[in-house]
Amino acid sequence: MTETDIPRDVLRSALGLYLDLHAHPELSGAEARTAAVLAGRLEQDGCTVTRGVGGHGVVGVLRNGPGPTVMVRTELDALPVTERTGLPYASTTAGVMHACGHDLHTAAASGALTLLVQSRDTWHGTVILVGQPAEEILTGADAMLADGLYERFGTPDAVLAQHCAPLPAGTVAHGRGPVMSGSVALDVVIHGRGGHAGAPHLAVDPVVTAAAVVLRLQTLVSRETSPTEQVVLTVGSLHAGDRPNVIPDEARLSLSVRAFSDPTLKRLMAAVERIVRAECAASGCPKEPEFTVTSQSAVLMPDAAVSLLARQSHEEAFGPHRVTDWPGSTATEDFPRFAADGVPTAYWILGATGVRQWRAAGDGITPVPPNHSPEFAPDVRNALPAGITAMAAATLRVLQAPSDTKGKT
Ligand SMILES: [Zn+2]
Ligand SMILES: [Zn+2]
Repeated sequence: MTETDIPRDVLRSALGLYLDLHAHPELSGAEARTAAVLAGRLEQDGCTVTRGVGGHGVVGVLRNGPGPTVMVRTELDALPVTERTGLPYASTTAGVMHACGHDLHTAAASGALTLLVQSRDTWHGTVILVGQPAEEILTGADAMLADGLYERFGTPDAVLAQHCAPLPAGTVAHGRGPVMSGSVALDVVIHGRGGHAGAPHLAVDPVVTAAAVVLRLQTLVSRETSPTEQVVLTVGSLHAGDRPNVIPDEARLSLSVRAFSDPTLKRLMAAVERIVRAECAASGCPKEPEFTVTSQSAVLMPDAAVSLLARQSHEEAFGPHRVTDWPGSTATEDFPRFAADGVPTAYWILGATGVRQWRAAGDGITPVPPNHSPEFAPDVRNALPAGITAMAAATLRVLQAPSDTKGKT
């Protein structure tokens, strides 16, 4: 299967879906319209469709005789970002944008499903297309699984997904290890003792303590982690006080830690707590600090055997020169949840950047707008056919593979 095998009407229909979803983005947990549009498409293609699985989750089941079950996962949600692409099909919803390309993934998955319907005499088994809500807040996969995704629709033999990124449109990239890092997000409260700005000796200033904490936390990456290991720590929010002449009672920090192994994440979280407690003690804080984990995602480590099948199908479909290696990124995903109970997964990166933008970025001055940027604008004319082909080819390959080549590793 190659891109030239996509019938014109299938491509046009998938492009229509992309443009529609892009113009009408919805935030995590509020994907009612997006879910309805996808469900309608899946019904048109002959799937048995269930709505409202784990929130606005959509499950389309396409049965084609006995054989393996392959689940294709896409995401429905957009981001609280104000679009600045200037595209004619830009978001019509103020302050909301498909800035992570979930519209592209959904259009590609839907197009791939249509191709699988049209080629159903070449394969046997079941394809389940899952439209997952609330990926950006890392809760949608859990919610669908908790709502009985595998019990109600069957535990799949493999789960496949793709995610676009700033790579040349028309290429795909596969990891040889972890594809994305695991992460922990943490809220911290530092308790000082409020007072008058003119009498700091009578207070314990949590602003100074918080500032020391933020700086000291940087040493977890620069001084406590091996230079060969990839780790990121970002304090994304820091709030304390609201007057220049009042020392506040407390300071609040939110931070995220990312790493490529669970032991490293655990080590970093313990070190964060150690530093915060020690800085509070150094400042003489009257009360111990508080810690609340607000979200967590596992390292995205796809199954080697299923990933190899997907990669082989892509090398055949695109030619090896359009399939590159992915070094792993410090973005995070809740996709690893679908690997619950040893279900094998494959996950690859879909290039989304147009040639002109890619070349302009070569000067090192004009960076390619990345995912989550208000200027993120996939080159849909090249990325969408590649995304449809990548998903259809990989799904077909897994459906047709002898069962011992996709053992649960
Ligand atoms: Zn995202
Ligand atoms: Zn995303």
